[in-house]
Amino acid sequence: TIGMVALDAAGNLSGSCTTSGMGFKMRGRIGDSPIIGAGLFVDNEVGAATATGQGEDVIRICGSHLVVELMRQGNSPEQACKKAVERIIKIKGSKAKDIQVGFIAINKQGEYGGYCIQKGFSFAVCYADDKNFMVQGKYIL
Ligand code: ASP
Repeated sequence: TIGMVALDAAGNLSGSCTTSGMGFKMRGRIGDSPIIGAGLFVDNEVGAATATGQGEDVIRICGSHLVVELMRQGNSPEQACKKAVERIIKIKGSKAKDIQVGFIAINKQGEYGGYCIQKGFSFAVCYADDKNFMVQGKYIL
């Protein structure tokens, strides 16, 4: 998945995501990316979030919507992403080590963050003034 979340100069939030799905997927599988609330969610009052990784597990927790609601409750983008990842790990139990899910999020103040289940997830941060850099996503397992 390539997921993007953005805050423009006028203070408006937006997001998008695109995916080729999973290797060897079942015919007709949709995944999380095209489902608003799962692979992507934007609330212009609060923040925006998008997901990558095992879509079935993102759908199960309405992941991107959950991240935005956690930000609404006062969590930073990073905290919100972490809590969503922790929820997946709690559901999956010992099987969590076999999958990867990552979230990135931005809030109305332009703070951003990301979290994933396991190492190997990074995201790019881009500013209008060309200040661009990569961030290693923090991980739990
Ligand atoms: N989230 C996608 C899916 O489950 C996979 C990906 O990260 O590209 O379809």
